[in-house]
Amino acid sequence: MHFSYTQDQQDIRAQVRTFALAKMEPTSEERDEYERFDRGIYDGIGEMGWSGLPWPQAIGGGGYDFLTYAMVIEELSRICPSTGVMLSVHTSLASWAIHTYGTEAQKQQYLRPLAQGTKLGAYCLTESDSGSDAGAMRTTATHVGDAYVLNGSKLFVTNGGEAEVYIVFAITGTQKETKSCTAFIVEKGREGLIFGTKENKLGIRSSTTIELRFEGCSVPLGNRLGPEGEGFRIAMRSLDGGRIGIAAQATGIGQGALDAVLAYGAGSGSLGGEQFYAHVSEMATHIEAARQLTYQAAWRKGKGLSYGKQAAIAKLFASDMAVNVCLRAVQLCGVWGCLKESKVERYLRDAKVTQIYEGTNEIQRIVISRLLLSEST
Ligand SMILES: Cc1cc2nc3c(=O)[nH]c(=O)nc-3n(C[C@H](O)[C@H](O)[C@H](O)COP(=O)(O)OP(=O)(O)OC[C@H]3O[C@@H](n4cnc5c(N)ncnc54)[C@H](O)[C@@H]3O)c2cc1C
Repeated sequence: MHFSYTQDQQDIRAQVRTFALAKMEPTSEERDEYERFDRGIYDGIGEMGWSGLPWPQAIGGGGYDFLTYAMVIEELSRICPSTGVMLSVHTSLASWAIHTYGTEAQKQQYLRPLAQGTKLGAYCLTESDSGSDAGAMRTTATHVGDAYVLNGSKLFVTNGGEAEVYIVFAITGTQKETKSCTAFIVEKGREGLIFGTKENKLGIRSSTTIELRFEGCSVPLGNRLGPEGEGFRIAMRSLDGGRIGIAAQATGIGQGALDAVLAYGAGSGSLGGEQFYAHVSEMATHIEAARQLTYQAAWRKGKGLSYGKQAAIAKLFASDMAVNVCLRAVQLCGVWGCLKESKVERYLRDAKVTQIYEGTNEIQRIVISRLLLSEST
């Protein structure tokens, strides 16, 4: 086992830190307050070569491993968790699905610009009656001639409206829903793809979250991703990897909150003493535990080993850690912790969301226990 980072990993972490402090930190509070998505930040991430970090260089990616990718999400989220989830959904969900299931033509047409950062990706699974129970989806895709016609709606789509490439899951058959689910690539601008209003959220407010409606939206056969009936599997496998991104995001949130507390403690005469030291050392311990679980899952993914259980464990632990660390951060800062300028109140709101998306933590417990049981039989 190796617990050291390569020089490349150390360099990229330092570069992301510099980028985040210079390009994201100055506007992080204002973007949160006004729910402003800043495309310029994504463009900057693309220019740095981080929008397709784990994909091969031959397709426009960075050729890095998933561990390095997790470090990047963590460092971005340490300053701005909204940017962290924007890149995580783009990479782990949208781009991953095309990288893994796409034809060569689909990779050239869609993955290349996603990896190069000239296009942004989104992932559309959730509906009004299918959140945790994703198999209950109602959006349909009817095969008509040389096209599929999509009808229905998807909710809470991260990057919605801003993204150019949408991975959409819809029912194509009459069998039990999960066996009839098929994945599609739908481009922004297709007739019948309608963007709804933006959600006014508790946290990660500067990432956009909107409803998408499909009203007779026709996509060519060539936009089907994978075989008919494989959609549910694609959706679930995407989420396995996505959870590593959310665990990295949550780790970054915890670290960001601890950074803020330490800065406050260093500049405040009212803090210090044994209570303070006990709190910050426990916070650091829990953050480090989340980091190691996250990196382990990312490392396994990069090595081609099974990672579903490790990803769910990392997501469960890191998101709970983030909420607990942020609650302590607010408490330690007293009334100042309740003010916008403290930053810790934003981290707390952002942390809460990590317990909900890409499978709530109740669902993570089900995933983990099922995998444990299957391992023991
Ligand atoms: C900011 C944000 C961004 C998002 N981005 C996306 C996106 O890009 N794409 C996308 O498709 N979706 C997205 N989502 C949706 C997200 O994945 C869902 O909110 C999540 O899956 C939970 O679904 P739900 O909200 O409908 O909750 P529900 O499924 O209605 O669950 C409500 C409560 O019941 C619990 N529960 C449900 N079933 C069980 C069970 N079997 N056992 C125990 N407890 C259970 C849940 O844990 C939860 O506490 C986003 C959500 C948010 C908040």
